Amino acid sequence: MSTFPKIQKNNIETLQVNLGYKCNQTCIHCHVNASPSRVEMMDKDTIYMVPKVLEAYGIKCLDITGGAPELHPDFKELVLLAKSLDVKVIDRCNLTILTEPGQQDLSNFLADNKVVVTASLPCYEGDNVDKQRGEGVFKRSIYALKLLNKLGYGLNNSELVLNLVYNPQGTKLPPSQKELELAYRNHLRDKYNIYFNNLFTITNMPIKRFADHLKKLGQFDEYIELLKSSHNINNLDSIMCKTLISVDWQGYIFDCDFNQQLGIGIAGNPLRLKDLISSKKDFFGTNIIVGDHCFGCTAGNGSSCTGSLSN
Ligand code: SF4
Ligand code: SF4
Repeated sequence: MSTFPKIQKNNIETLQVNLGYKCNQTCIHCHVNASPSRVEMMDKDTIYMVPKVLEAYGIKCLDITGGAPELHPDFKELVLLAKSLDVKVIDRCNLTILTEPGQQDLSNFLADNKVVVTASLPCYEGDNVDKQRGEGVFKRSIYALKLLNKLGYGLNNSELVLNLVYNPQGTKLPPSQKELELAYRNHLRDKYNIYFNNLFTITNMPIKRFADHLKKLGQFDEYIELLKSSHNINNLDSIMCKTLISVDWQGYIFDCDFNQQLGIGIAGNPLRLKDLISSKKDFFGTNIIVGDHCFGCTAGNGSSCTGSLSN
């Protein structure tokens, strides 16, 4: 039994939808074990339930993730349906997908629909990125960032928002988000003439591929201890699962993407998207199911899908 404090849901502001685990990359820190060989994908019926839930619950933010969510054949249709409801859409983009064969129109589509691009770039040094994400990923990421800048993403006075995501190499906690953002901003501007809006620092979660990696190195227990000993109670109020529900590719509901990967269903589970449509659920005040991995969200400066919680 975990010693993580009891927490409850507030009003739901974000629906985070995982379209499947297929990805064009195979990163070491991946918490969903995504890869080119994964075949799990959300079916069309479930895709169509997403806008219904957004509308019925008045949720104004759709956060689309994967794998590489853009590989889903209905990705664009889902974006268009959500935009027709005036919902903010976030694409959790790995950048290299914008350079894959057959995806030539993707960046224009994202720009035309004012999709917020939240893109992984775990370092501004090429060697570190390639070590974590695969050979050649940095070069392709830089190319994709230039493409996005050219369309107006990340530029002053533009409506097109480009956020970058940093996660540490190995078992360290992320440094100060504010200081690192400045370092990224200066380096990417001076060396590559690249611009972005915000940098989000995210703690590596000790689950799936990253957990296996730590276990192989004999560092798993040590990392859990680091997360526990760095627990910062001030981060509890803004923890993301309080205002978010997460949906897996089969339409099941979870408190967050991490619980989804661990197969830890929401209280009163199993609950699916179709259950949210057939009868209205009130999530406010319901217990969030927690475990030791949750210390990854409160350790140090805290961590969430929108970066650190306290700096
Ligand atoms: S971390 Fe992202 S880009 Fe890397 S394998 Fe996982 S889903 Fe794909
Ligand atoms: S892992 Fe999920 S449930 Fe646990 S604290 Fe983080 S967001 Fe909440």
